[in-house]
Amino acid sequence: MPTSFEDARSLILDHIEPLPSETVPLLESLGRALAAPLDAPLELPRFDNSAMDGYAVRSEDCRPGVRLTVCGTIPAGGRPEPAVPVGGAVKIMTGAPTPPGCDAIVPFEETDSGEELVTLYGPVNKGDHIRYRGEDIALGSRVLAAGATLRPPEISLLASFGCQSVEVVRRAKVAILSTGDELVEVGEPLDERTVVNSNSWSLAASVKELGGEPVMLGIARDNRDSLLEKLSEGLQYDALITSAGVSAGDRDLVREVLDELGVKQHFWKVDIKPGRPTAFASREAVPVFALPGNPVSTMITFEEFVRPALLQMMGHRAVLKPLIKVALAEPARKKPGRVQFMRVAVSSGPNGLRMVSSGDQNTGILGTMLRANAIAVLPAERDDFAAGEAVDVHLLGPAAALLAS
Ligand code: AMP
Ligand code: MG
Repeated sequence: MPTSFEDARSLILDHIEPLPSETVPLLESLGRALAAPLDAPLELPRFDNSAMDGYAVRSEDCRPGVRLTVCGTIPAGGRPEPAVPVGGAVKIMTGAPTPPGCDAIVPFEETDSGEELVTLYGPVNKGDHIRYRGEDIALGSRVLAAGATLRPPEISLLASFGCQSVEVVRRAKVAILSTGDELVEVGEPLDERTVVNSNSWSLAASVKELGGEPVMLGIARDNRDSLLEKLSEGLQYDALITSAGVSAGDRDLVREVLDELGVKQHFWKVDIKPGRPTAFASREAVPVFALPGNPVSTMITFEEFVRPALLQMMGHRAVLKPLIKVALAEPARKKPGRVQFMRVAVSSGPNGLRMVSSGDQNTGILGTMLRANAIAVLPAERDDFAAGEAVDVHLLGPAAALLAS
């Protein structure tokens, strides 16, 4: 009995343990997952400061047309002096600490920009254009959760706290093995019987894109000895991904040899299209993903099953891409029974996002994958979809990963 898409995904995620953590220099943490929650060791801003270039004033002295005596200047990085006397103003630059007595900043453009005396044009309220100490981030507040993906904003925050290094979850070393007697490696001579092993490359690129370290084991031939050697090697890494050799025509050789190696199989067929002959197994903490050989099926099953698993292994909290509703620009149809992953091109139209099929959905057609920027997830029980119907979609590519909730 094939496993449903949802069950297959939960079975996988239930088996994936996070790897240990390591400390890396701040910039190396980009795209990685924070190992432990972070509470603010400092408050931000660290001192009251001006949000504008202008004059530090006492708001009670200020009315439209009033003239104040300018008694000094505070540059960014300067000390918060002199204090603002009654009836006075201190020139101040953005980011400079506010001086004693000041309870508002008047931007230059709301004055005549006078050097010795300054005339104010409009009303001034207490607190105007002051960034108060701790208003952004309070001391001790929980600013990042364990498993937060470190993007430029998180790295900015860590830098503001003075962190030169950060503890993140280790990268997964992921073994990649292609199987098949017809395969040759890139660069080897071609003839009419051979197929270039492109799957190892798409898988390695996908692993790398999400922060893992691919280890390409090359090609195992369609015989027990070759598979035994390569699969045992693959089981030495954090995870193993194989392609091909799991469909009916391959006599389930990959599954037989995995069995021989003491690898426990959790499922080996999923109610999806493409990618039905996908198997998931594990030996201790090492997950094994046996993906179908068709290059398009390999990429789609990686996207749907392996990607969330590797992200979870590398400590990320958000591992599933959010599904967004996008309207079909033209009707679509499928057979009821299996979840279908339709390769689509999403674009923005006058009424928001819209999508069209990116071409022939046959798994042999790579061009449809090249033109796709998203996958529409069509529910198992449905068959016909009318033009205009909004359907669940997730975007392809690394940026979308970080939108995950
Ligand atoms: P299989 O799953 O072994 O039946 O393979 C399905 C299709 O995918 C066949 O056309 C294979 O030649 C092709 N294929 C299998 N492995 C690879 C690979 N590593 N790179 C490119 N194509 C492959
Ligand atoms: Mg084969």
